[in-house]
Amino acid sequence: MADELKLSLLQMGHRVREYCPVGELLPGMAYLVRRLLENTSNEGFLRIKNMGEATKDQLLGNPVHAIAAAPEPLARKPHPAGTFLNAANTDYAQAANRDKQRAALAACAAKLGQKWPLIINGKKIADREYVASVNPAQPSQIIGHWARATIGDAEAAVAAASAAFPKWRATPVEDRAKMLERAADLMESRRMALNSLLILEAGKPWLEADGDVSEAIDFCRFYAVEMRKLAKPVVTQAVPGERCVQAWTPRGVGVAIAPWNFPLAILAGLVVAPLVAGNCVIMKPAEQTSVIGAVLMDILTEAGIPAGVLNFLPGYGEDIGAHLVGHKQVDFIAFTGSRAVGTKIWETAGRTQPGQANLKKVVCEMGGKNALVIDNDADLDEAIPAALYSAFGFSGQKCSALSRLIVLDEVYDHFIERFIAACSSFPIGDPALPGTIVGPVIDADAQKKILSIIAQGKQEAKLAYQGQAPAEGWFVPPTVFVNVKPEHAIAREEIFGPVVAILRAKNLDEAFALVNGTDYALTGGLFSRSPKALERAQAEMFVGNLYLNRGITGAIVERHPFGGFKMSGGGTKAGGKEYLQNFLFPRAVVENVMRRGFTPPEEA
Ligand code: NAD
Repeated sequence: MADELKLSLLQMGHRVREYCPVGELLPGMAYLVRRLLENTSNEGFLRIKNMGEATKDQLLGNPVHAIAAAPEPLARKPHPAGTFLNAANTDYAQAANRDKQRAALAACAAKLGQKWPLIINGKKIADREYVASVNPAQPSQIIGHWARATIGDAEAAVAAASAAFPKWRATPVEDRAKMLERAADLMESRRMALNSLLILEAGKPWLEADGDVSEAIDFCRFYAVEMRKLAKPVVTQAVPGERCVQAWTPRGVGVAIAPWNFPLAILAGLVVAPLVAGNCVIMKPAEQTSVIGAVLMDILTEAGIPAGVLNFLPGYGEDIGAHLVGHKQVDFIAFTGSRAVGTKIWETAGRTQPGQANLKKVVCEMGGKNALVIDNDADLDEAIPAALYSAFGFSGQKCSALSRLIVLDEVYDHFIERFIAACSSFPIGDPALPGTIVGPVIDADAQKKILSIIAQGKQEAKLAYQGQAPAEGWFVPPTVFVNVKPEHAIAREEIFGPVVAILRAKNLDEAFALVNGTDYALTGGLFSRSPKALERAQAEMFVGNLYLNRGITGAIVERHPFGGFKMSGGGTKAGGKEYLQNFLFPRAVVENVMRRGFTPPEEA
């Protein structure tokens, strides 16, 4: 290429280095095309220089200075009322942000060990048995102690919520929405402290903790904006003589039962959506992360949610959780968690009892057995890091995490070789250290369960990779099995840890059949360069969230409404436009407007 140019440069006395890819033809061509694209891209220095868009000094400047001078992300600035914009994650590439996070972690660690009472009808109830919550990376470190609610407390919380309902239902939507937005602002202003608590109590690496906080903020702001829209009655049909509208009314009293893996975001979502819709809520966080639940309760109270409208009831699921689900005065259950618990809740809620006011509504989000298909022509430079992060980010403890890699025949051996080689690039360790990607699993029970599934996997399939886990803390090493068959337990059951089963498929027909061959339908994905294959995936991969040519985790509020079907959930999409309707009844109002006049208002 450009022989004249090279010659001229040599004649001018410059040194010229010529690159020449050596090896297989197709990867070589791909490399060449990529270099051409890079060199002609908008950001490429060659183009910028030739077009005179930057000076030599600017081009040679230290990029660290450019990062420091970057403008404030858009989402941190005010934006037009009535619109929603996602919160921006912290940019840890900036040294100042890393310093702030380190300082916040130290401040958080210095304040651990507090006692967190129940809150019913605005009153703190402190004289209960306390349960310690610990850091999964260092189980000797106590994060705090939460008061364990009793059945009597559950009864009192239902009574408080029922009593608060009429006034809260009548509170203008604008006031309710503003409270959520205030809560979002509070969370934003305390982001570093909240991140620290998530890192310590849930074992989340920095980026994951920060993403969790962003999502909680987004839920508050998004549901506030959406509820304002729903508050306006909609004309169903415009006909002469009749005003016909549909409007929404809240369901009543509900219980929000959350898992530990998104201890702030999911809990916040399950609570604030029904609240802004005008319902009263009993918040039951997961046992493992109840301190974060207590902090969220404080934030929502500070934001203005009145006493009784929201009640904080930490406790054991099978004990107060089950009692609340079956309570005849509970009108809805907003649940996210395992399939075993979710299906039990669904069943219990379906049984009506004498004196029950409403048929119970269950919003139920459960587990997954998520698959990513690697087509023969997939770009492995993209597919491998995306697969690694989807599988091992936050130690695979996301309902969306990748647990089945389905690789097509022609590329199978090559893919495995590169994927396995890349596995060891993921740092395992204490999530309080900024470089960690794979932290601990949540508790000793989870560790034991995942290790026993790994032991079973060793009997069923071939262990292809296992990382090194630290000795202290509840760690499970990232583990990869190959030669997995669809009937193996590791290919069927949700594992909820850093374990990947790799299956081989002859063609896309077989790959899609494998994807659809489990009980779950949560997330899934395909890496392919073929438009036809991408089109087929949309029609033939039956999952709630389908991701094409990207990782399969990391749903963003509004942009990626999240949730599955089959045994993964009831089809409600958290962070989607229809979500609030789960907590509302539709009502139609029809008025004859053919009258000649109205009676004047009575004189006061
Ligand atoms: P879990 O089902 O064990 O617990 C979830 C909640 O249910 C906890 O608050 C627990 O106390 C409560 N609970 C337990 N037994 C109960 C009962 N009998 N009645 C009422 N409540 C009860 O789940 P987990 O271990 O906390 O979370 C992990 C699971 O959550 C995984 O299966 C994961 O896939 C799923 N998850 C799903 C989504 C989604 O959006 N689909 C998101 C996150 C997590």
